[in-house]
Amino acid sequence: MLAAFYVTYVRNITDIDDKILQRATENQGKYFQGLTARFIDAMHEDEKALAILPPDQEPRATGHIEEIISMIEILIDKEFAYSAENGDVYFSIMRFPDYGKLSKKKMDELLDGARIEVGELKQDPRDFVLWKAAGDGGIGWDSPWGYGRPGWHIECSAMSTSALGNNFDIHGGGTDLLFPHHENEIAQSECATDSKFANLWMHNGPLRVDNEKMSKSLGNFFTVREVLKKYSAEVVRHLLIASHYRSPINYSEHSLQQSAKALERFYISLEGLDIENAKSLTNSRFEKTFFAAMDDDFNTAEAFGVLFELVTVINKQKGEDIDLANQLGKLLVRLGGILGMLQSSPADFLRGDQSIEIEAATIDQLIAEREQARMEKNWALADEIRDQLTAMKVVVEDGADGSSWRIER
Ligand SMILES: [Zn+2]
Repeated sequence: MLAAFYVTYVRNITDIDDKILQRATENQGKYFQGLTARFIDAMHEDEKALAILPPDQEPRATGHIEEIISMIEILIDKEFAYSAENGDVYFSIMRFPDYGKLSKKKMDELLDGARIEVGELKQDPRDFVLWKAAGDGGIGWDSPWGYGRPGWHIECSAMSTSALGNNFDIHGGGTDLLFPHHENEIAQSECATDSKFANLWMHNGPLRVDNEKMSKSLGNFFTVREVLKKYSAEVVRHLLIASHYRSPINYSEHSLQQSAKALERFYISLEGLDIENAKSLTNSRFEKTFFAAMDDDFNTAEAFGVLFELVTVINKQKGEDIDLANQLGKLLVRLGGILGMLQSSPADFLRGDQSIEIEAATIDQLIAEREQARMEKNWALADEIRDQLTAMKVVVEDGADGSSWRIER
């Protein structure tokens, strides 16, 4: 049986922290609100381009200073937190025996590498900051402990509980936030409210670039906008959801090309079908397996597997029973729609894409990937990339000192 769940989706925005303040100062002292507003707008634009649904609420830390202060007051009253002489307030993790339950870390393990930085007045190096004194002049708010700013972790606890209550169903986030951020959110919230914080945690895997961690220092990062200049939004969306959300996503020209190919297969099978006038197929085995996969912790990889099975059957039925092919096509569009995909007309997708110019840099990178594959004697991958290049009308010539390429006319 299908059950409908109505979700209230809240996404917290940290619009104040040391990094933001530093950037604002570097930007000729421009007001930090201007800086964060610009980035939030840009984020919304990118999400819209990728057909990501907006949250129901998007609270910002600077709009919740009162709730943050009152949560810290409760924690101090209950002796889970203490204020230091310099105006900082810290959470005392020894007071919360459950600390580490999410990341499965033991209290004494946490002593390794924990240290008290210059200027900090922690009683225990494992304690974390709830309120940071802003000294003179910095951006901040008045509080019972003096002028200062909230710590990052407490912002999330205050925003989540004021939007959803003390206990709510699902908390999401990147794997990199599991410790200490989410662990600290649990500690603060459960100590302040005496109730379980989130019933379920969903952590998504990291984005990797050519099998390396994406990071600013490696210089291998890029923006959604840059990618959308070369690939359609649907191709990027496919790359992001084709693998299970808990596993890492590997971004490369090669994987984008593969997503483009996958979508091409879908749209080619839909081409020529009369979806609009087709009868709706209900309760088919495709639909059942698709939902079973999605109900299994959002196994999108398996769900796409079902859609590909559907493509094979559609292609076969096109020559045998066009009515059935139309009905199956309608089902494919409906199931694809649940993933936010396959809503373009086949003609738009298959021919509209040509307006996206294949840049020389893309081809160079594919050739480099192919050379790497050859060096590693991964002939299957090398051949696959060559086929892709051929499909792009790129002719590769292997010479003694590397490969050269040209566009076939
Ligand atoms: Zn958070």
